[in-house]
Amino acid sequence: MRKQIAAANWKMNLTYQQGEQLLSDILAEGIALANHHYAVFAVPFPYLVLANSELSDSRNYFASAQNCYQKKSGAFTGEVSAEMLQSIGIKFCVIGHSERREYFGETNKDLAEKLNLCLGCQITPIFCCGEPLQIREKGTQNDYVEQQLKESLFHFSADQLTKIVVAYEPIWAIGTGKTATNQQAQDMHAHLRAVLAKKYGQAIADEISILYGGSVKAANAKEIFGMPDVDGGLVGGASLIAADFVQIIRSLK
Ligand code: PEP
Repeated sequence: MRKQIAAANWKMNLTYQQGEQLLSDILAEGIALANHHYAVFAVPFPYLVLANSELSDSRNYFASAQNCYQKKSGAFTGEVSAEMLQSIGIKFCVIGHSERREYFGETNKDLAEKLNLCLGCQITPIFCCGEPLQIREKGTQNDYVEQQLKESLFHFSADQLTKIVVAYEPIWAIGTGKTATNQQAQDMHAHLRAVLAKKYGQAIADEISILYGGSVKAANAKEIFGMPDVDGGLVGGASLIAADFVQIIRSLK
């Protein structure tokens, strides 16, 4: 079975002490993850070493970065490289979150570079894609998201592609309380898998985990994760509340 992943995105929230408490409350539940289940915590850079050490004794629990820079190293004050993340043992990194695309101007081409660097450092990127509201209203979301995949992923070999996790996050559903319907999520995930299958073959496409993100909550996680092409979620707001995220982890299929 494909990897099913509950990924928390803390964004720029929580102090160090609050983050430590949240992780310890979640771990205190002692959820033993099945082989194909993963819990991933994308925490702010200053908390990565702590999160990595707190999570390291629990199988299939991982710390993740929320971003890295698109250059290997050099005079880029304030940035963090994939190699730096690798050097502290980080195994996952969110790439191309819509907030990075919107507020920091990250392009599909920049993201292709970031993905190259992550893979070169044995870091699994969680590559985010998704359309804004006006594209959804026009009904051209399939083409829009397909283009994001083509421009950031299609230079990879099939073997490299299998090391990437995709997260479909309709921008109109992020932090808005407005979730895509189960069918809207399934339709887009099936479309993305078909786009990957056309380029890489069905067997490779079937290996890629595609997460849904956009107002996933404890109350709706089970039904949305239950859709055939939805392989878990990337979760913002609800990942900041221990009881909710625990419920979301338990909702993986
Ligand atoms: C996100 O941060 O990627 C996200 C989906 O946020 P929320 O769950 O709060 O909509």
